[in-house]
Amino acid sequence: MDRSRNETLVFEFLEAAGKPASAYEILDALREDGLRAPLQIYRALSKLIESGTVHRIESLNAFVACKHQECGGNEVSIFMLCERCDNVTEAVDTSTAAALAALCAARNFNGTRQMIELAGVCAACQTAQH
Ligand SMILES: [Zn+2]
Ligand SMILES: [Zn+2]
Repeated sequence: MDRSRNETLVFEFLEAAGKPASAYEILDALREDGLRAPLQIYRALSKLIESGTVHRIESLNAFVACKHQECGGNEVSIFMLCERCDNVTEAVDTSTAAALAALCAARNFNGTRQMIELAGVCAACQTAQH
């Protein structure tokens, strides 16, 4: 896949961060690499999202690098968002995808984007409580 320099910079930042980052956090981090305009970040992000290598977490208004090889296939991405440490776990599940497809078919709804976001507390934070 052909990636522009900006796309590579944005993707590598998100991958290293391992957590969701807002467009402004990305901009801040990449300022020294010559990315100074929010538009440059948004352009790179939208290309990366299109290719399935970055996902937008709607409820956080943030972006996260995909941890799977082939996102955007028949699976549905389920994002588990920890409210304590801001960690995001991406789970890919084919049975959920099948259930959603059946639901759409039953309602005659042409679903084009499948995104599920679950808020809660991650395993590490549950352990830290005790
Ligand atoms: Zn993904
Ligand atoms: Zn946590």
